[in-house]
Amino acid sequence: MKLPDQLFVDGSYRDSASGRRTPLVNPATETPLAEVAAADLADVDAAVDSAHRAWESNWRDWTPGKRTEVMYAIARLLREHLEDLAQIECQNIGKPIGDARDEIGLGARVFEFYAGAITKFCGQTIPVWRGGFDYTLHAPLGVVAAIVPWNFPFPIGCWKVAPALAAGNAVILKPASLSPLTALKLGQLACEAGLPPGVLQVLPGAGSAIGDALVTHPLIRKVSFTGSTEIGRHIMELASRDLKRISLELGGKSPNIVFADADWERAAETSPMSVFANTGQDCCARSRVFVERKVYEPFVEKFVAATRKLAVGDPAKPETQLGPLVSAGQRATVEEYLTDARQRGSRFACGGNRPVGKGYYLEPAVLLEVGQADRCWREEIFGPVVAVRPFDDETAMIREVNATPYGLSGSLWTNDLRRALRVARQVESGVLSVNSHSSVHVEAPFGGFKQSGIGRDLGMNALEGYTELKNVYVAE
Ligand code: NAP
Ligand code: MG
Repeated sequence: MKLPDQLFVDGSYRDSASGRRTPLVNPATETPLAEVAAADLADVDAAVDSAHRAWESNWRDWTPGKRTEVMYAIARLLREHLEDLAQIECQNIGKPIGDARDEIGLGARVFEFYAGAITKFCGQTIPVWRGGFDYTLHAPLGVVAAIVPWNFPFPIGCWKVAPALAAGNAVILKPASLSPLTALKLGQLACEAGLPPGVLQVLPGAGSAIGDALVTHPLIRKVSFTGSTEIGRHIMELASRDLKRISLELGGKSPNIVFADADWERAAETSPMSVFANTGQDCCARSRVFVERKVYEPFVEKFVAATRKLAVGDPAKPETQLGPLVSAGQRATVEEYLTDARQRGSRFACGGNRPVGKGYYLEPAVLLEVGQADRCWREEIFGPVVAVRPFDDETAMIREVNATPYGLSGSLWTNDLRRALRVARQVESGVLSVNSHSSVHVEAPFGGFKQSGIGRDLGMNALEGYTELKNVYVAE
């Protein structure tokens, strides 16, 4: 299979103006994978101009029905190429192949959802005081920049691109430098499905080189970003200059709360993958486990036993649950946290070491006796590390759950309905699941409280973020 290795601009692959390239390494083998063209400032200008031209001259006047048809056609092509795309993701970022297949399927489903949603995204007619006819319209914004990370490159790309296109915008998709390949295929397949050239462009390139130019470009009307809180804050500052629309989906330090009245055995068996899936590189990772003291000991025992059973290894094998970390740098960052935990006297119930052999692997680590002031309890690690602490009192526990600048996701395990409703109301997070670990539903809003972000992806809510509300009054 030929890997895409050029920018996708104006409906075709092309090299960057500078000729610069970014080398990619397969993190499971540490061997070179490809060298991909890296966009520079001249490429940003060319891509934004082309996107704006395509939007103004053609795309913004497409009927909702025509947009629906092309969105379904894109979804069909993604499904036809599902296996190729999954194999690419597996090699590029070490994503276990089973997860990679699920994520490409999820991306296709996002296109299907918005293909159908756009004809149900209604305005209002308003009986204004003076009579006549008053109605609201959802107007597209123009060109949207979607800047996405490397942990779930394909689905996160789709959940920005699909609602933006459905609402009638053009999109510049900037993948993370580590994971440009499936984004480039998405651009090409969307065009093949009938999307006019220029409506979706894909610009791999270093965020440090082209990020500011994208965010400040006068023809970019909105920046939709997923990534670190640090870069999110930077984007918000830059966007304030011309009051650019932004949505930010940032980090997390999500709780997993287990009450003694719950089916805590099921919670213990399923919880390892709520933090270790994607090798812990997940903004929704339940990295702080709060267990009611009455069941703390047996919970930890089961939780550790289930963690030890996780299949860590070659992401190309269908039975693998945890692949390598995405890069040597990411593993080094995680190891700094582990060193800090050791120095502060945390107990390692299991994991935390590198297995022998090639690849940026790390055994999933369960930390006990972690202090509430320790970095591993307070900061997002973005790797296979979890801290488990007992609690006695519900009110004090909720206060600690909320004592973080983050508020993205979380789980709550109880069989007491009133407690479930009360705690779900009190936890400060954008998404929460009761007796489950799911965070993402294509049909429902996804995003964070506090420093976990601003705005919502997915569901009908995302369409609001890619449109302006216009009120039209017609005199009678
Ligand atoms: P990051 O720097 O925030 O990267 C996310 C995206 O932003 C990438 O496409 C990146 O491009 C781009 N970017 C970088 N600098 C930019 C700038 N000045 N302007 C505009 N865009 C810019 O995240 P990271 O460095 O990959 O990861 C660092 C930490 O962020 C992780 O350890 C984790 O804590 C957090 N993170 C969170 C999520 C999430 O889903 N919420 C995802 C990834 C990471 P380049 O790749 O070219 O730098
Ligand atoms: Mg970065």
